[in-house]
Amino acid sequence: MKVAVVAFAPRELPNFLVQARSLLTCAACFAPQQVELWLLGDLDENTEKNISLSVDAVCQVAPGELGRVYTAEEWIPALERLYRLRRPQVVLFHGNLSGSELTVRLGVRLGGSFMTEITEVAFEENGVTQNGVAQNGVAVARSVYGANLKAVFALNTEPYVLSTAKGAFTLLASAPFGKKQENAILPEWVVLNERMPAWRVGPRLHWEETETGFETARIVVAGGRGVGGVENMERLRRIAALLGGKLGGTRPAVLDGWLRHKDLIGASGNVTQPKLCLSMGASGSGPFMAGVEKSRILAAVNSDPDALIFKYSDFGVVDDCNAVAQELERLLTEERPGLKGARM
Ligand SMILES: Cc1cc2nc3c(=O)[nH]c(=O)nc-3n(C[C@H](O)[C@H](O)[C@H](O)COP(=O)(O)OP(=O)(O)OC[C@H]3O[C@@H](n4cnc5c(N)ncnc54)[C@H](O)[C@@H]3O)c2cc1C
Repeated sequence: MKVAVVAFAPRELPNFLVQARSLLTCAACFAPQQVELWLLGDLDENTEKNISLSVDAVCQVAPGELGRVYTAEEWIPALERLYRLRRPQVVLFHGNLSGSELTVRLGVRLGGSFMTEITEVAFEENGVTQNGVAQNGVAVARSVYGANLKAVFALNTEPYVLSTAKGAFTLLASAPFGKKQENAILPEWVVLNERMPAWRVGPRLHWEETETGFETARIVVAGGRGVGGVENMERLRRIAALLGGKLGGTRPAVLDGWLRHKDLIGASGNVTQPKLCLSMGASGSGPFMAGVEKSRILAAVNSDPDALIFKYSDFGVVDDCNAVAQELERLLTEERPGLKGARM
């Protein structure tokens, strides 16, 4: 088999290497004849020199400007083109938010089989079953029902586009990959750097890279669909900053491009436990509540008095969340400067 492992170009080399080696460990389960590393994003010279992974080829998708912010819409066409060029039978992603999103979207585009967060692999080749039981192709296992059951899925159509579950494929002592190699720049280096089409209309948010994580944030502002647009979301970002907190939001807010994928709060994103969560224009759906229910105080603004969120919140305001946000920003910046950076 020919296997491609896909990784975002490293911002931090040690983390990147751990991730790439775990993917290569998974790749080894397919007893591959050929393994390629597909790198998404630009590399600096120093990083390029220090990538020392034993693979048969490295392909880089270097989309320049557009690739600085992750959106699946920008990466998928490039990945599709790369697939048509290289034709691997298996494409492996890391099972983080973006990896799993790309897995599903690419799998659908290519008309293959796809599965996210796999924990085991079995396959049959030339009538011989490798790594357990597989029928007519590849079988993969993953946890289901809140990790209470293991399900095995038969995948019958190539290419197999898969993402690995966190921690599932730790390095095998005998894995042929991940060894430090001198002179590891690789036999083949394919660069695909056509400019991607700019599909997005409207401004992007600008972010400081030094922001703190959701796990430790003392104040979280969560924006939902009711926020209505990127400019209003930008106001919430300013409010979060004034309070010394962090802004995230619901899935519709992420899907509409008002927030980044990694700012998603909820069952499929970040689970927060701040002292104060201020929910603005979110309905209080179960998946969202999974990300905010551990807040010590939950305050919600929603224009619908019957909104579910009011059932869970300690304080509620029935109003237009943007009018409330406007007033809150005014209070924080003009009349009550003492509130700035209020410590909870
Ligand atoms: C498998 C799966 C996983 C999911 N994972 C997540 C997840 O991790 N996180 C997540 O958030 N969602 C997730 N979802 C989606 C989730 O089910 C809901 O669809 C989503 O949370 C709803 O987001 P929302 O509250 O912003 O939008 P809506 O449900 O549309 O609610 C918008 C709310 O805004 C209010 N509103 C409208 N205008 C205003 C205004 N001007 N001022 C004040 N209020 C206003 C409305 O009254 C309404 O209550 C998942 C779904 C599935 C199927």
